[in-house]
Amino acid sequence: MGELKIGIMGAMSEEIEGILELIDSVEEIKIGNRIYFEGKINEIKVVLVFSRWGKVAASSTVSALIHHFGVNQILFTGVAGAIMNDLEIGDIIIGKRYIQHDLDARPLMKQFEIPLLGKTFIEADQQLLQTIEKAVCNFSIHLKNKQVISDDILSKFNIESPRILIGDIASGDQFFSSIEQKNQLSSLLPTILCVEMEGAAVAQVCFENGIPFCIIRTISDTADHDAHIDFPKFLKEVSGKFSSGIIKEYFKLIGK
Ligand code: SAH
Repeated sequence: MGELKIGIMGAMSEEIEGILELIDSVEEIKIGNRIYFEGKINEIKVVLVFSRWGKVAASSTVSALIHHFGVNQILFTGVAGAIMNDLEIGDIIIGKRYIQHDLDARPLMKQFEIPLLGKTFIEADQQLLQTIEKAVCNFSIHLKNKQVISDDILSKFNIESPRILIGDIASGDQFFSSIEQKNQLSSLLPTILCVEMEGAAVAQVCFENGIPFCIIRTISDTADHDAHIDFPKFLKEVSGKFSSGIIKEYFKLIGK
């Protein structure tokens, strides 16, 4: 691999704003309804983009990052709905394996299998995952020391001491907002921690192009009838700060 060039994706515009502030000498490039911000963080080349929501949006964006911008590593930060029962708003999930919960080509192949790949789960890069885990732990120390978010905001969203978990994430083109949806997913796929709308698509494109990737999600809602928290405020005041804080710690670890 040549010089490291990292693609950073976020599914929410509010979330990439904080990351944009970390980038030096930013250049804006418009392609296919997206703005790609190219520059450097700690002397490492990066391209940041707001992918928009859903698998198609995420796949086309990550393809442009790989084929147009030549990135050789992908990070994705965003929010997700909790599937595992005792997860709480503000918990951080680092994805180890990804599955498309809405992919179903039965009877041609088994449920969730990706056509022609013969796989249902795609794994994040092990080494990258370990470094991201360190970055998230470093970030959570700053969070505990109240250096990131005020007590007022944390208590507004009932965030006490967010946990960090590594595990399985399911993605699909559906926003989960009922207990029935949630129960159905966990009965079919009992290891799933959280649900979102982009990760497994990014994972598949990265896998097929041999690009190491890692996806980090902050739990924003419980994926049931309570899934309507004050989203704009949560994105700006909480998950946006989580995303930029974690990215900052990651570049401290790998920076020149
Ligand atoms: N409706 C909200 C935002 C939508 S959330 C608003 O008012 O702005 C959709 C995004 O968050 C997607 O990018 C998805 O990946 C993630 N997400 C968060 N909670 C989710 C859930 N319960 N189900 C599916 N995706 C979720």
